[in-house]
Amino acid sequence: MTRAAPTTLRPTTPKEVRDAVLDTPGRLAITGAGTARHWAGRPAGVDATLDLSGLSGVIAHNPGDMTVSVHAGTPLRALQDELAAHGQRLALDAARVARGATVGGLVATADAGPSALVYGGMRDLVIGATTVLADGTMVRSGGHVIKNVAGYDVAKLMHGSYGTFGPLVEVVLRLHPAPRATTCVAVDGPVDRAAEHVLRLMASPLEPIAVEWLSGEPGRLLVRLEGGERTLPARVARLVELLGDGAREVDGAAAWDAHAALTAGSGAAPDAAVVRIGCAPRTLAPLIGRLPATAVTAGLATGVATVTVPATAVPEVHDTVAAAGGTSVLRDRPASAEVPAWGPAPSSLALLRAVKTRLDPDARFAPGRFDPWM
Ligand SMILES: Cc1cc2nc3c(=O)[nH]c(=O)nc-3n(C[C@H](O)[C@H](O)[C@H](O)COP(=O)(O)OP(=O)(O)OC[C@H]3O[C@@H](n4cnc5c(N)ncnc54)[C@H](O)[C@@H]3O)c2cc1C
Repeated sequence: MTRAAPTTLRPTTPKEVRDAVLDTPGRLAITGAGTARHWAGRPAGVDATLDLSGLSGVIAHNPGDMTVSVHAGTPLRALQDELAAHGQRLALDAARVARGATVGGLVATADAGPSALVYGGMRDLVIGATTVLADGTMVRSGGHVIKNVAGYDVAKLMHGSYGTFGPLVEVVLRLHPAPRATTCVAVDGPVDRAAEHVLRLMASPLEPIAVEWLSGEPGRLLVRLEGGERTLPARVARLVELLGDGAREVDGAAAWDAHAALTAGSGAAPDAAVVRIGCAPRTLAPLIGRLPATAVTAGLATGVATVTVPATAVPEVHDTVAAAGGTSVLRDRPASAEVPAWGPAPSSLALLRAVKTRLDPDARFAPGRFDPWM
């Protein structure tokens, strides 16, 4: 028997989201801009899709408190444009923001970019959230105060949940000042040499905002510095001296665009898959050397990497990363490939299932995304 094509619901208010959850029988996939629809497990057995891209816009921006609340379907790129007018930003530079990723989607996928080194990921930037549970309950946690006592911190629970606990409808974020000046210094070399540079850099007082190695011939380490227009050049000079031979200032926009493209697996072979890895920073360079990767971006100071590998090698990648004490999740794969999204089940799996059963007892939300764990 073939299933009917799933209906798409496009609510534009939190109340419409709740009504859609209550009035639609069956299992619901949740999407924002769709920029991570191939990440993690494939949605399976879906009866309807809850498209939250119409739930968009700033609810309240408090420039003095440096907080903003937005509807979850707001594209981060659009939010950044609004904040820039006030000299502020959300300090998150995930590659897919340029492709229209929404605030809710970035929280739900635990996505982050190179500047997570200093600012953390969405989990560290979210100070409040409102979610709709399967029974229609609106759960609100946190608020507009950066140091709030959040009780059961639903926003943190939703971080990396891939929609499995329910749709986020509102997100409150802490903001940072936009930097006066930014620059990028690059030095070419292989990953093990880059890892040595990073150890010395992180022990120095230079305070890099992002430190990423990109694969290539022979590979390149990128370091981003931010600061005042008058003070930054002195730090750049010290950084160039620390990195030594061949280190130089480069066009930051082009360098980080190249990083974003590699992160997304752009230009990879049609049979390639992209896997995101997290491990202890010092173990990352040797771990990368053991993977059959054709392209890599490696946050050598954060322990987070994205590798492009032949899709057939994905199980081996999960096993190798797990053996090194890290975690891995599939970010992209060829349409026809049946490859595991997750590695060996974590010790927290029982907890994940218990939370799911409590919040969504009929397993209606995001079926398939945590397959085969749940
Ligand atoms: C209940 C629940 C369970 C989940 N279980 C998993 C899971 O088992 N695996 C998974 O990939 N995703 C899991 N997810 C999804 C998860 O939220 C994110 O996809 C991912 O784990 C977030 O990883 P992170 O590296 O951003 O953050 P964190 O895991 O908090 O890592 C923070 C920092 O620690 C580093 N780090 C990570 N792992 C290690 C390690 N083993 N040793 C030393 N340093 C490390 C990272 O590189 C990063 O710099 C789960 C989500 C939920 C809701």
